[in-house]
Amino acid sequence: MDIHEYQAKDLLRGFGIKVPSGGLADSPEQATYRAHEIGGDKWVVKAQVHTGGRGKAGGVKVCSTEHEVFDAADDMFGKKLVTSQSGPAGKIVYRVYVESGVKIERELYLGFVLDRSSERIMVVASSSGGMEIEEIAQDQPDTIIRSVVDPAVGLTEFQAREIVFKLGLGASHVQGAVTTIRGCYRAFRDLDATMVEINPLVVTSDNSVMALDAKMEFDDNALFRRQQIMELRDKSQEDLRETKAADQGLSYVGLDGNLGLFECDADTSAIVLIGEIGGPQEAEAAEFIRDRMRKPVIAYVAGLTAPKGKPMGHAGAIISAFGESAPEKVGLLREVGVSIVPNPSEIGAAVRSVHAKAA
Ligand code: ADP
Ligand code: MG
Repeated sequence: MDIHEYQAKDLLRGFGIKVPSGGLADSPEQATYRAHEIGGDKWVVKAQVHTGGRGKAGGVKVCSTEHEVFDAADDMFGKKLVTSQSGPAGKIVYRVYVESGVKIERELYLGFVLDRSSERIMVVASSSGGMEIEEIAQDQPDTIIRSVVDPAVGLTEFQAREIVFKLGLGASHVQGAVTTIRGCYRAFRDLDATMVEINPLVVTSDNSVMALDAKMEFDDNALFRRQQIMELRDKSQEDLRETKAADQGLSYVGLDGNLGLFECDADTSAIVLIGEIGGPQEAEAAEFIRDRMRKPVIAYVAGLTAPKGKPMGHAGAIISAFGESAPEKVGLLREVGVSIVPNPSEIGAAVRSVHAKAA
């Protein structure tokens, strides 16, 4: 589950991380009022949507008067923000966050992820903040610092200092950066997050270290333990099907079909897929299996001997797609590693053999 920037900042503030003062607004009038409350002479209006890359898509605007704050907010409300990360459907802006504009000296990147291979939390940092991590990895891979945390000791002051020195921060910024790094780690661990990202983490002209952006993701399957986090869910930002599943206590990855559900379900260890001639579903399933599934899939496709174009007598037949005949479908599924059984009576044996191999 994703949460909004303002929510992530609220949580991180509780772990000692410095963020600019700000307030949430759901109308341009309220945005102006927030700017007034915050004071100063520079504000940033930020669309609260579950996606990054807002800056380049017009979802982050720096303003110098309350009037500009009104206009910036007015411009964002109700708009669909399509960013490099949102997918073509975009996300609709229902709320904006108004925060104090900060004078930036340096922008850094700081992320925390679960390293699947070591099953440990890994800190990823770079002295080239502001860009997306994929861009940094491509353009300046040498600036990327990786540091795995030993869960038995946690992220120590020493380890945090090491990261800070590699980032090339001056002596006056060390304490602020160490506090930020250790605070993010504790937030990650204590709140069962699966990702924490501060991009950019900045050094300001008055020498503080601050999080200007914050992103957190949570494991849907651990949310029942975290009522406080569960309450941050914003259904307006989610795929309807994911929301429905979540309401029933399930975790679901949006796709046309049910495979995502099985992939996430702790009690499912293998999936049996039954296909038939006609329709694009098996071809779509093959793509999904290739990209997103790790559990073994066994498939039986009916109609192996049916001639191409044979009428099926239901709606599936009029959806035309590649891989329409049963042998074509078998080919597509086999290509992505699915075990194919030629006959339904062999499904049981195939499942047993897949389990035996996994054990
Ligand atoms: P996104 O990652 O979705 O584009 P960010 O919150 O990172 O959104 O904002 C984009 C850029 O806008 C930042 O890299 C930073 O340069 C600038 N920015 C964001 N918040 C502030 C702020 N409070 N004061 C000054 N500049 C900001
Ligand atoms: Mg950002």
